[in-house]
Amino acid sequence: MLEDKFGRRFHYLRLSITDVCNFKCDYCLPDGYQCESERDFLSVSEIKRIVNGFAALGTSKIRITGGEPSLRKDLPEIIRLCADTQGIAKVAITTNGFKLDQHISTWVDAGLTALNVSIDSFDPRMFERITGHDKLDVILSGIEQAVSLGIEVKVNAVLMRQYNANDLSQFLQWVKDKPVTFRLIELMQTGDNLSFFNQNHVAGEPIKQQLLAQGWTQVVKDKAAGPAQEFFHPDFVGKIGLIMPYGKDFCASCNRLRISALGKLHLCLFADQGLDIRPFLDASSSESLVAALTSMLTNKEATHWLDKGYTGGTKHLAMLGG
Ligand code: SAM
Ligand code: SF4
Repeated sequence: MLEDKFGRRFHYLRLSITDVCNFKCDYCLPDGYQCESERDFLSVSEIKRIVNGFAALGTSKIRITGGEPSLRKDLPEIIRLCADTQGIAKVAITTNGFKLDQHISTWVDAGLTALNVSIDSFDPRMFERITGHDKLDVILSGIEQAVSLGIEVKVNAVLMRQYNANDLSQFLQWVKDKPVTFRLIELMQTGDNLSFFNQNHVAGEPIKQQLLAQGWTQVVKDKAAGPAQEFFHPDFVGKIGLIMPYGKDFCASCNRLRISALGKLHLCLFADQGLDIRPFLDASSSESLVAALTSMLTNKEATHWLDKGYTGGTKHLAMLGG
């Protein structure tokens, strides 16, 4: 099992397969995708070697992310190779959902077990204002299909003062009779979004207090669980989650590592740089990759420095997949 010098264990890999995205979320890619690097994304065979290497080191969960991962035509093949790897029990995807209704059953057939979709507002006009796309209805119908297929579904909203900070009651209403977890993510500063961040960052802690006052109970976390806090209520089928990266001890429960679409290991979402693992993907066995990953992990730091305004090399989260 991959373990760092602080005793944290890493059984969860976030694997970005592209940094291209078709949306223009105000907090992420407000001007749309700009091709800044060579688009030499990991091939299916490279992804297979990465997944084998991580599985050999105890990884049991893989999240496929991007950019927008559903822009890759070989996505079903990638899902299947993850699901078919010994030791990988959970294969998840994070998507903006624009093609969900067309593809979710293919993805589930390929072995997808969990789905995260980003929806920052249930008001179609506000949704379009944030993302640049009038797609809310299509995305919601894709989510209905995913729920009916029986996979785990989570919906993520980034909390923003000027857009959705007063929408808590709508979010709660939405999970009233749906077996879905709706998670509010505190807006994070990145290299490119400082003024948007300054105008829109809202802390999650007052929302937590509001939930507790309204009879929601915090779910007791499993030891291996990550930093999200979840809440349930006897009158609601769904759950609410809060992700508060500026909160105390957020990094203490870090259980994940990240690989970018260009084959770089990021020890933290806000690391200074990624560490190139492509040179270790040629060998016929996983041995050299396993040794490289184990050695690279010794440099993982205790925490990010987001609260000091330090965002490392991360210009926006489409670079890495959040
Ligand atoms: N395109 C896919 C999507 O939007 O779900 C996957 C990639 S996106 C970068 C992954 C997640 O990061 C989304 O839930 C998105 O809302 C979130 N995200 C992007 N930028 C963020 C920021 N600055 N602060 C907090 N969350 C952010
Ligand atoms: Fe694209 Fe996701 Fe970033 Fe929105 S948050 S611009 S959908 S990568």
